[in-house]
Amino acid sequence: MLGNIKSVLLNLAKKPVTRMYPDVKRNYFENTRGHLINDMEKCVLCGICQRVCPSNCIKVNRDEARWEYNPFECVLCGVCVERCVKKSLKLDSAYRQPASSKYRVELLMESREEGKAAGKVKSLA
Ligand code: SF4
Ligand code: SF4
Repeated sequence: MLGNIKSVLLNLAKKPVTRMYPDVKRNYFENTRGHLINDMEKCVLCGICQRVCPSNCIKVNRDEARWEYNPFECVLCGVCVERCVKKSLKLDSAYRQPASSKYRVELLMESREEGKAAGKVKSLA
C-alpha cells in the first residue's frame, strides 16, 4: 500500500510519458527502414537492384530509361541499397503513407545527357 502511494506521488510530479498524438509526433529512429527512394540523377539503370531483389519488386527498363518499383511487395531488406553501384538507392526512415489502393512507383530518366529525372506514381491494374 505504501509502495503504491509512493508511486502515485512520484507520478504526479513527473511529466506524462505519452504524447499528444497526432499533434506531437515522435521522430523516426535514425536507421528505420521506412521506404525506398531512388535518386534518378545518380541512377545509371544498370539493373543490379532488379537482379538482387529477393521480392522481385524492381523493374529496370534501359530502353525506355525507366526504373519501376512496387512498394507493396518490398520487404525493406536493404539488399538493393547495399548493392547499388551509384548509391542512388536509399532507405528513408519515414514510413510510407497508407494507401487505399495499390500503386507502383515509376521513375523516368527524361534526359540522360542533362541528368534530368521525372517521377510518377501509377496505379496497379
Ligand atoms: S543498382 Fe542503383 S544505379 Fe543500378 S539500376 Fe538500381 S538504382 Fe540504378
Ligand atoms: S529493399 Fe529488398 S525487397 Fe525492397 S526493393 Fe530493395 S532488395 Fe527488393
